Amino acid sequence: MTAADNDKKPLLRVRNLRKYFQQRSGVLKQHKQFLHAVDGVSFDIYPGETLGLVGESGCGKSTLAKALLRLYEPDAGAIEFDGESIFDSERRHKLGRAPMRKMRRRLQMIFQDPYDSLNSRHTIGDIIGEPLLVHGVGNRQERHAAVVALLARVGLGASSIDKFPHEFSGGQRQRIGIARAIALNPEFVVCDEAVSALDVSIQAQIINLLLELRSSLNLSMLFISHDLSVVRHLSDRIAVMYLGEIVELARADSIYHKALHPYTQYLIASIPKPEPDATIPQQSLSGEIPSPLNPPSGCRFHTRCPIAQHRCTAEAPRLEIVASDAGHQVACHFWDR
Ligand code: SF4
Repeated sequence: MTAADNDKKPLLRVRNLRKYFQQRSGVLKQHKQFLHAVDGVSFDIYPGETLGLVGESGCGKSTLAKALLRLYEPDAGAIEFDGESIFDSERRHKLGRAPMRKMRRRLQMIFQDPYDSLNSRHTIGDIIGEPLLVHGVGNRQERHAAVVALLARVGLGASSIDKFPHEFSGGQRQRIGIARAIALNPEFVVCDEAVSALDVSIQAQIINLLLELRSSLNLSMLFISHDLSVVRHLSDRIAVMYLGEIVELARADSIYHKALHPYTQYLIASIPKPEPDATIPQQSLSGEIPSPLNPPSGCRFHTRCPIAQHRCTAEAPRLEIVASDAGHQVACHFWDR
């Protein structure tokens, strides 16, 4: 499924989303700076689609996820879910507290650290049942039955209900986090590095569980990871993020076999066992990711790009659909070099 061949309306529509964080430095904290965490990001996610979002640690992926659900209040841009505006800075509109709470039934998040995201003093029954209680779903007995059914759905026994998070392994705790996220039958789930803290074999089990739930619940997803090889298993399309901006967005197979942006090519080449039929040239990348407090001028990638030219330091490339592959977007002056 791609934006190009999908005639459905997007479920989630994001335009020019921006989120900066103010920071103060100096002995008297007199210097004000802004950390450009998310800077003008636009994309759509279609019903039933999974968009993978990849990039190095610190590139703004998690801030973007939280801004989408307004766990961080965006500074600018627009977010629309199922045709309803959640936030629109141009129209000076944001969904009020009560309708946003109602909207959150439809939009859920699975967090990176399954231990930190579960209250250690609450039983598993209380943790999974909390969204049902908060949203006034069912009576006590019905909620208990719903929690038992949710535990079964994620592969855990009913005996787990009176236990505490520390009695479970990392993979089991992530299953509990997933059960909580699907308790209200959401249509859209953000998975923020949901398998990154797990061993490889457990990662595969959790990915298989997410695949099964996606298909049985017809979920749409934003699946965030720093690891392209993980994102591939779940994603219909993949967006690549660098220093707060999306630099490439395309169908998953196009990203893996026909990546056009030098940064994406670097990420593909860095996967430990690239596929033998991959045609991406090996590229090296120098230096660390620059500070988002002071992003480079022009193309933000120019300080590390192996093919940067003078134009790249002065002129920021726009994310544009390239003619060679409908729906394939890239932000690079020299993508067709
Ligand atoms: Fe590299 Fe220039 Fe393209 Fe940026 S615009 S990715 S610096 S070639």
